[in-house]
Amino acid sequence: MKVIAEMDEMVRFSEKLRCEGQTIAFVPTMGFLHEGHLALMADGQKKADHLVVSIFVNPAQFGPNEDFSTYPRAMDQDLEKCRNIGATAVFTPAAEDMYPAGHETYVVLEKLPFHLCGLSRPVFFKGVATVVTKLFNIVRPHVALFGEKDFQQLAVIRQLVQDLCFDIEITGVPIVREPDGLAMSSRNKYLTPKQRPHALLLHRSLAAAQKMVTDGETDASRIVALARDVLTSCPDIRVDYVSICDPGTLDEVAVIEDAALMAIAVWLGKTRLIDNQMLVQTNRM
Ligand code: AMP
Repeated sequence: MKVIAEMDEMVRFSEKLRCEGQTIAFVPTMGFLHEGHLALMADGQKKADHLVVSIFVNPAQFGPNEDFSTYPRAMDQDLEKCRNIGATAVFTPAAEDMYPAGHETYVVLEKLPFHLCGLSRPVFFKGVATVVTKLFNIVRPHVALFGEKDFQQLAVIRQLVQDLCFDIEITGVPIVREPDGLAMSSRNKYLTPKQRPHALLLHRSLAAAQKMVTDGETDASRIVALARDVLTSCPDIRVDYVSICDPGTLDEVAVIEDAALMAIAVWLGKTRLIDNQMLVQTNRM
């Protein structure tokens, strides 16, 4: 497995594979890899001849009071995991190379960021769209894989690939959960043993919402109210949002017809957790 830190070396490496007629699947990550990341990689390996993973904690997607400096990092273990799964290359650029002095171009979407996480993290999607555009130009993949855990991010990437005419197939991968239902996340590391059981309330509130829909409820506001009650049964949880929305536009819906996305973000102490699930009417399941 090649570990490549230099941008031009990564470009040359990918170009060589392309010239040989080989295909590349790409999984961008911020490292501290877990089973969720590995599921993306395993899917990528099925879709192309070579798997390229990037590990880069992207400063541009963190707000001034967010956790950039404390974000968990474990490069040696991450490289071992990539090696074990059989990645062809791991791209580990330096922040100074991705954003050198004088860098001034950013990728900004007009609508999708003004929903869900974008409302409380105003620079997040500008940072994500910019870094993914740069990574696509450097890694030049045929296929790129993103987790449905970050549903809004996946929507943003699909939109930018279409708008900026990238010839890249985008694949969404279902959420990988711990055995008890907690969605895997690098940030779960922040949870204290006392907080860890409370983190299950996200998954429980989604399950309670689906049960209401299964029982015939279609009024989104009643389902949101129930989910908020489940979440705030823990005094340490502060709800950022609970939204039932159209999975394409992310606009909130008042009535669930067939199916809708339910997305949640909360603060559990100092840790921000997100989760989501499609709510589906039972006769459609
Ligand atoms: P991150 O390192 O958190 O930026 O995540 C890198 C990629 O892994 C993103 O496409 C995430 O959506 C995806 N991902 C993170 N956690 C999970 C999970 N539990 N299940 C599926 N995909 C995930």
